[in-house]
Amino acid sequence: MAMALDAGEGLPQGRAVDVQFRTKAFIGGQFVEAVSGKTYATENPATGKPLAEVAECDSRDVDLAVRAARRAADSGVWSRMSPGERKRILARFADLIDKHVSELALTESLDAGKPISDCLSLDIPDTANCIRWHAEAADKLYDEVAPTGPDNLALILREPVGVVGAIIPWNYPALMAAWKLGPALATGNCVVIKPAKQTSLSLLRLAELAAEAGLPDGVLNVVPGPGEAVGEAIARHMDIDAVAFTGSTEVGRQVLRHASESNLKRVLLELGGKSPQVVMGDVTNLDHVAEQAANAIFWNMGENCSAGSRLIVHTTIKDALLEKLVGLTRQWIVGDPLDPATRIGPMITKTHLDRVLSYVRAGVDEGAGIVVGGTRVLAETGGYFIEPTIFDRVSNDMRIAREEIFGPVLATLEFSTEEEAISIANDTPYGLAASLYTDNLHVAHRVARALKAGTVAVNCYSEGDMTTPFGGYKMSGFGGHDKSVHAHEQYTELKTVWMQFAANH
Ligand code: NAD
Repeated sequence: MAMALDAGEGLPQGRAVDVQFRTKAFIGGQFVEAVSGKTYATENPATGKPLAEVAECDSRDVDLAVRAARRAADSGVWSRMSPGERKRILARFADLIDKHVSELALTESLDAGKPISDCLSLDIPDTANCIRWHAEAADKLYDEVAPTGPDNLALILREPVGVVGAIIPWNYPALMAAWKLGPALATGNCVVIKPAKQTSLSLLRLAELAAEAGLPDGVLNVVPGPGEAVGEAIARHMDIDAVAFTGSTEVGRQVLRHASESNLKRVLLELGGKSPQVVMGDVTNLDHVAEQAANAIFWNMGENCSAGSRLIVHTTIKDALLEKLVGLTRQWIVGDPLDPATRIGPMITKTHLDRVLSYVRAGVDEGAGIVVGGTRVLAETGGYFIEPTIFDRVSNDMRIAREEIFGPVLATLEFSTEEEAISIANDTPYGLAASLYTDNLHVAHRVARALKAGTVAVNCYSEGDMTTPFGGYKMSGFGGHDKSVHAHEQYTELKTVWMQFAANH
């Protein structure tokens, strides 16, 4: 399929991009039909029209994929390859992602409704960067020798767990895959990965590029299909050694149960969030805060686990900050994701749009006030668009302050003292991320430590970069981290080899 793209960073005006939709499962190095022969339509959320027919796998396909992965794991073709050689193959994979950035970005934009400008500048380059970062770490991390004295030698080794199952969401289809694949593959594991049903296309193409880069057959297997069939089969599989899950807290709970009811595979959960943005009364540059706060909630349509969905702002500056934020929403243009000017594309599905709109109604019903936005727009396109929306007069017991909306909807709350700000910020079942704005260094240190979240960004909205671990406190997850060398821990076993040197040997 070839499509003409008008413009966009990295794409010359009017250049046609050849989009290779891969729609079958990728098992043992081959694209294969689902055992059932069934397919399902993946749709373009900007038009509501079908985009491609994708293999609808079930537990039988998961079995085949696990068998292929186990064969590859047992053969040692990947796990016993020298780390330097693994690095070279994964680095080639990253290079191929970069080479196909336009095609992958277009695929991602069409399948997930994400703005093409974000796909070109962030999603796909970050996907390549993630794979490359872990590839480069592969031959630079040393095992340990314990300080046992001269009569013994104790090696503390990191070994791959074996076969890793990965289950990922639809909001960053390629990047969330890379957050799992980078560390799992770099540490020598074989992987069976399930994309979200709504967004399988970019990952299937990534698998093909990995094979082209030299990844041996069976090391990476992609099984598309519904969560209840494919995801559950992965979580319950007796021959998968670890499962890495990113998605909602509700489904994460099920994955944990399935793991506990099967072979007690180790579980990594990266779940939802309701992240606070705390703005102290001492901040002087409100323009900067407004810009960051808008980015925190509107970026990726608010379909973002770390979205700063609760703006907790000092009473003295609340009105001034809201005025600036409302002004900024005009710059968050809602529209066709393929238009480079668009910053907010559609919600992923009609069901999800309806869910987000139901939260807007709940906010109004519970007494909050809409400052801007709140309605569906561009319905004539067939797409699932909603305006960026800001609520004022929210209290922390309202549903829009407690539940993850996963859309461009911001709830504004007020405080008068630092203690109150911390108390409101931490009064949530989640603990994924937080932002803090202050001009006072003492306050920055004190409050950053008091906020119960896996990542606290000070005077900005950020998840850090590849060098920093990303994971949640409380019901935002546990069991490991994505990104950084800490991500290698959940994909490796720690083995002690104890050797004794008796005098008569
Ligand atoms: P989801 O939980 O509905 O689905 C996630 C994945 O699980 C999908 O692949 C889905 O098919 C699969 N699944 C569904 N039912 C399953 C079952 N019974 N057993 C096993 N797998 C099953 O989440 P979503 O709607 O795709 O994504 C949005 C959620 O993901 C939000 O809650 C968001 O906060 C979270 N998220 C978290 C992070 C993070 O790093 N913490 C990153 C991105 C998204």
